[in-house]
Amino acid sequence: VWSKCLEIIHNDINEQSFKTWFEPIIPLNVSNQTLSIQVPSQFFYEWLEENYIHVLRKAIDYTLGKNGMLEYSIIVDKGDKKNPPIAYNIPNQKPTVPVPAQRKPEPTLYESPFQLKDLDSLELDSYLNEHYTFDNFVEGDCNRLGRSAGLAVAQRPGVTSFNPLMIYGSVGLGKTHLIQAIGNYIKNTQTNKFVLYVTSEKFCNQFINAIKNNTLQAFTNFYMQVDCLIIDDVQFLAGKEKTQESFFHIFNHLHQSGKQIIMSSDRAPRELAGMQDRLLSRFKWGLTADVQQPDFETRIAILQKKLQADGIYIEDKVIEYLAHSIDTNVREMEGVIVSLMAHASLNRKEIDMDLARTTLKNIVVDNEKEVTVDSILDAVTSHFDVNMSDLKSKSRKKETVFPRQIAMYLMKEFTNLPLKSIGYHFGGRDHSTVIHAVQTISIMLETDKEVEKTMQKLYKYFNRVRVKN
Ligand code: ADP
Ligand code: MG
Repeated sequence: VWSKCLEIIHNDINEQSFKTWFEPIIPLNVSNQTLSIQVPSQFFYEWLEENYIHVLRKAIDYTLGKNGMLEYSIIVDKGDKKNPPIAYNIPNQKPTVPVPAQRKPEPTLYESPFQLKDLDSLELDSYLNEHYTFDNFVEGDCNRLGRSAGLAVAQRPGVTSFNPLMIYGSVGLGKTHLIQAIGNYIKNTQTNKFVLYVTSEKFCNQFINAIKNNTLQAFTNFYMQVDCLIIDDVQFLAGKEKTQESFFHIFNHLHQSGKQIIMSSDRAPRELAGMQDRLLSRFKWGLTADVQQPDFETRIAILQKKLQADGIYIEDKVIEYLAHSIDTNVREMEGVIVSLMAHASLNRKEIDMDLARTTLKNIVVDNEKEVTVDSILDAVTSHFDVNMSDLKSKSRKKETVFPRQIAMYLMKEFTNLPLKSIGYHFGGRDHSTVIHAVQTISIMLETDKEVEKTMQKLYKYFNRVRVKN
């Protein structure tokens, strides 16, 4: 049945779409006039629903008749035994609204807090996100030390000399992912161990509440029964003397009992101002490893892994373009992929070079504040070292003509001003002068590398990245 369907579908859509959206589908079975297929991800399913429902309907009509139905299931991560695949039914009349994937709600901080539990009879929540694993953490020069130390700790928690293990580095570089991966590994391999993940912020709030509610002892006892304590973003403890004191005692107790402590911070321990020295010196007992910005090859590998997980196919050259354009952090890269998928889905377009360019351009612009006429005039006068009055005059001197044309070009790019209003800022020139300026600069940008470079520098004044065409 499925191969007949594919034949029909193949006739209706282009090769690229077929390859991207139909080849990855795995047919499961047919029963009661219902065809079951398996798709690689939630996104994939939504895309099919959104864009190809008519083609699918037609194929089902032809093979199973008007009463034929299609049922999707979504491939769930390997090793994720807890969540069975979610099945979606599409009745023949109208497509159903998909059931949103279930996510465990974050409980409001332990409501009846920190009672000592009978560990044998009760499973304590670790607050780990099981999607963070070593398997989907891409290794690169940027994180090699942290990753291998993490793996060692995961395999032998509390036993290695990496206790505490401290991972530091700036935002979006995988600290949370890595320390949670360690936690998940321990939780899955040593089920008797109580692993607990907590952000320093949450720890602080719990501490404050414990004081308020007179449950400090229970709070401390609760933390002292942990076998592996993972505490994220410890920089948040800076300046919070009392919380640090409490953490210090818990830390000592756990460390002395051979329990594992794992921490992350957005800066190196020596730069953690506002942290008690005795705590800082404890941090140095174990291993401190940094994570850095991934290089080009690692960025490609991360993008590929992410796309693969979502079951999306994108041409290599587009991936390279993305890896080339976004070099800040991994979170940003993920953000771009998500918007790419959203744009693709909204515009019913494949993810190609064109879409990548426009999406990237929009994202960069969306994040920034508005570029105003005044900021353009300021940037141009200071960059070219010309007077404001010369720039705005009708002078035809070469030293002012070029900067003036650049300023007009930038206003056309960044503001919604009509050409006439742009002209108004330059001694009341008419709109044809502005058109001429914009055209001249556009041509120069394409033919003269120096002009392109100048333009890129000017964009930086506005915190924009110039995406070349
Ligand atoms: P941090 O805690 O350092 O701010 P996160 O751990 O939250 O950063 O990482 C941000 C996002 O980037 C997460 O979705 C994470 O899964 C992803 N990520 C970061 N580094 C990697 C990597 N090396 N391989 C795969 N995904 C990564
Ligand atoms: Mg984090």
